[in-house]
Formats: sequence, C-alpha cells, structure tokens
Amino acid sequence: MQIVVDLTRCQAYAQCVFLAPEVFRLPGEEALLYRPDVPDDQLERVRQAAAACPVQAILIGEAVRADAR
Ligand code: SF4
Repeated sequence: MQIVVDLTRCQAYAQCVFLAPEVFRLPGEEALLYRPDVPDDQLERVRQAAAACPVQAILIGEAVRADAR
C-alpha cells in the first residue's frame, strides 16, 4: 500500500513514529522520513498513525491517488 506524507503539513509531532516505527522515523528535530511503500504487516499501524496525526498529514492508498490528480 502506498502512502504519502504531506511534509508541508507535518509538524514533527512524532505520533506516527511511536505508532509505526518501522515506517516512520524522525532522525532529526524536523525532517520526517518514511517508507512510501508500506508492507501489509505494517498497514494497521500506519492506519492508526494516520488517525493519530494531529494535522492529518498522512495519506493512504486511494487518498494518495486522489491527491496526485
Ligand atoms: S504524526 Fe503527523 S505531524 Fe507528526 S510526525 Fe507524523 S506525519 Fe508529522
């Protein structure tokens, strides 16, 4: 499943890093790193991360394609 994080929205709150550390990383203070291609066994964690993100910066699946139009 593809995801996109809108890094212009992301405020580095790190909720996603706590919920899905295999997908999201915050090595510095500001720049979030993530795997755009999420393995199936991480999908539920990523959904929880998207729901927990205070600024709704994480787009999953269909939302990624809709955003690209
Ligand atoms: S939870 Fe949202 S705002 Fe926080 S680091 Fe993740 S994507 Fe960025």
